[in-house]
Amino acid sequence: MVLYLGIDFGTSGARGVVIDDEARILSQMRHPWEMAIDADWVTCWEKALWRLLAAIPGELGRQIGAIAINGTSSTILLTDATGQPVDAPLLYNDGRGSMVLKNLTSIAPPNHTVLSATSSLAKLLWMQQLPSFRQARYLLHQADWLAFMLHGKLGISDYHNALKLGYDVEKFQYPQWLEKLQIPIQLPQVLAPGTPIGELRPEIASKFGLRRDCLVCAGTTDSIAAFLASGAKLPGEAVTSLGSTLVLKLLSRTRIEDARYGIYSHRLGDLWLTGGASNTGGAVLKNFFTDQELVSLSRNIDVSTPSELDYYPLLKEGDRFPINDPQLLPRLEPRPDNPGEFLHGLLESMARIETRGYELLQNLGADQLTRVYTAGGGAANSAWMGIRGRYLKVPVTASTNTEAAYGTALLAMHKLGTSYLGSL
Ligand code: ADP
Repeated sequence: MVLYLGIDFGTSGARGVVIDDEARILSQMRHPWEMAIDADWVTCWEKALWRLLAAIPGELGRQIGAIAINGTSSTILLTDATGQPVDAPLLYNDGRGSMVLKNLTSIAPPNHTVLSATSSLAKLLWMQQLPSFRQARYLLHQADWLAFMLHGKLGISDYHNALKLGYDVEKFQYPQWLEKLQIPIQLPQVLAPGTPIGELRPEIASKFGLRRDCLVCAGTTDSIAAFLASGAKLPGEAVTSLGSTLVLKLLSRTRIEDARYGIYSHRLGDLWLTGGASNTGGAVLKNFFTDQELVSLSRNIDVSTPSELDYYPLLKEGDRFPINDPQLLPRLEPRPDNPGEFLHGLLESMARIETRGYELLQNLGADQLTRVYTAGGGAANSAWMGIRGRYLKVPVTASTNTEAAYGTALLAMHKLGTSYLGSL
């Protein structure tokens, strides 16, 4: 039997999942970040990678036929000609790229996804003024560099990680406007996520008891990996993430982009993963209720009776999707004395915002919604699931799996190639 290993480098730590050829989980490994102990992020990542490989039970390790890795989106680093990092990486949420945005705005097309302080391209332009830039030969994303540690080939990425570097995922090439920036280092060659890049370096295979012919595949980003884990695979299927914020992702045959609402699309084989994010969500619930109260109060909500309360739950003013208004005020009045009624009103109001979000994506040309999978802390709330089903008018269920590492293991199993539909 051939097994597959997915590795997730997320915001809180690294995880690994080994699956069989029927996508069943056989083994899972975890390694939380230890920044207090490690001198730098690169050392921390490298250690985590080796710890995860060392934790794979021996009899499983010998059967792993392919490995893929996901990293956090727009976490990048520069390396020299041998793949050695020349400076500290810039992490996904590092905003220092804001200093070059003015220059970038004059070159990139209006409203392009690279026009954000945290985009990979803005970070790369900011890095150009570092003294270490003189030794730099390659720009790599976190997932690219970690995969390089396994297969030993430099300068390779995937079209999920490369989107925010400016790569044109429709034409499969870097756009001409990017050349105007005259970036004096090698931008990665971009492959479809899941494409086999090469076999494991022999010394890694023998050190960790893995197969010499085990393939290392092009990776993806953490949020796309979590989408792949959900079970959604057909156009019209979506995943709502009910975490601190509300994040919607809808699989569609059409690509849609609208910078006013922060809407953009990732390529997924022949399909597009469209989406947007609202500032409403679990962080507002957390402001009023403990997790225990959320469980006990939700139990008493009569899902079939709509609440009369019409809120727009926000912690501070402003939202972008589905309402683009930086001055939009939180609406949390009138507040009933009964906390259960208040929670009911909040959950209903968020369900309306979610529904409006999917309507907006569809109005902009995305496929009609057929099913919604659910991830994040709010996915455990069955009352909310019922309320959301009433508004969304399609089946609403929990995701099959919410672990990015599981989605990345699926990627290692099925090369996305040209058809997402045919491959998962
Ligand atoms: P993130 O990773 O975005 O911080 P999580 O996916 O861990 O978020 O989800 C945490 C959120 O889930 C919290 O903001 C909390 O309010 C919310 N949450 C936790 N339990 C429940 C529940 N039973 N019902 C609704 N929301 C919940």
